[in-house]
Amino acid sequence: MKRGYRLLYFIPLLLILYLLLDQYVFYTKAVFPPATVFSGKSIYNPYAQLDTSDAVVANFHAHAKAWGGLTNGKGSAQDIWRRYDSMGYAFHGVSQYFNIDTFNHRAINYVPVYEHGINLRKTHQLVMGATSVAWKDFIFPQTLDNKQFIINKIAEDPHALIVLNHPNMLNGYQVDEMKKLYNYDLIEILNPQAQSLPHWDAALSSGRAVFGIANDDVHNVLKNSLISRFYTIVYGSASEAEGLYNALKLGSHISVWAPKVAADDLAAKKRKIESAKKLLLSVKVLNETVHIQFSKAIDTIQLIGNNGKCLRMERMKNAISYQFTPSDTYMRVEFVIEDGSRFYMNPFFRY
Ligand SMILES: [Zn+2]
Repeated sequence: MKRGYRLLYFIPLLLILYLLLDQYVFYTKAVFPPATVFSGKSIYNPYAQLDTSDAVVANFHAHAKAWGGLTNGKGSAQDIWRRYDSMGYAFHGVSQYFNIDTFNHRAINYVPVYEHGINLRKTHQLVMGATSVAWKDFIFPQTLDNKQFIINKIAEDPHALIVLNHPNMLNGYQVDEMKKLYNYDLIEILNPQAQSLPHWDAALSSGRAVFGIANDDVHNVLKNSLISRFYTIVYGSASEAEGLYNALKLGSHISVWAPKVAADDLAAKKRKIESAKKLLLSVKVLNETVHIQFSKAIDTIQLIGNNGKCLRMERMKNAISYQFTPSDTYMRVEFVIEDGSRFYMNPFFRY
C-alpha cells in the first residue's frame, strides 16, 4: 500500500522531468534565415489592389465558454456572432484554445480559427484557416528554438495563416527574437492586454515581411466595453473567407485602436466603424514615392521607418506623400483622428 502511494508521487515528477528534457535538452535546433533588410529598387504596396468600396471589419480573437468552463470565456459562439454582427462586422472568429469552433461553418464568411498555446509565458499563436489543431506545445518559458519549432509545427498545415498573438504580453515574444523568427504571417500588434509595435518594427527592420492585425481578444462578449476596441479593416475580401485570406496575405488591411467610450452602445460603435471604413481613399506607389489620400483632414499622420524611427509627422492633412531615401528599407503609416481612434497601416517596403 505504502509503495503504491510513493508511486503516485513519482508519476507527476516523472512527467515534469520528461517535459523539461523534451523542451530544454532534446529539442530541435532551429535554422533561421539570415537577418537581412528589405532591398531593391521597387516598393511593395500592400494596398495596390485597394478597393475602398469593399471595406469590412473583422475580429479574429474572441473566447466563448469552452472545455466545460475550464478556460476563461463567457457567452457562446452564437453570442459572438450575434454581437459582432450587430456592429456590422463581416468576420468574427471564435478562437477557443486548441479547438476549432464550427458554429455557422457553412457560412461564406466563416473563418476556422483557434488559439494555440498552453504555457507559462503565454507564447500564443492565432491560427486561421487550419483544418485541424496542432497539439504540440512547450509549457515552460520557451527558448527561441522552441518558439520557432512550434511555428513550424503549425505551418505544416498549408492552409494555416499564423498570427503571433500579443507578443508584448508577459514577454511571450521578446523584441530581439522578432529579428529571427520566421514562417508566420502576421503579428497581433494591437490587443487589449498588449500593444506590440516595437516587435513589429524589429521584424520589419530584419526583412521579415509580416503584417499587423488588431483583435479584441475578448473573454466576455456580453460586455459592451470589451468589444470593438481593437479591430481590423479589410479591403477587397468580398466578405468571403477565401477573399479574406488573400487580403491578409497581401496586407490589404489596417489595424485600428478605438478609444474607450463607456457610454457607447453597439449602435454607436457601429456608426464609428462605418465612418472609419471610409477614411482611406487611395494608396499609390509611383517609382519610390508613396501617395496616400484620405477622405478628410486627419489630425495627426506619422510615418515610421527603420527600427521604429519617426520619419515625419503632419497635422490636419488629407493627403501625404513620401519618397523613400536610399537608406529607407520600409515605411509604415500611423494616423489618429479627432475622436482619438488610431490607425496602423501595413508597411511599404523595398523588394
Ligand atoms: Zn492568448
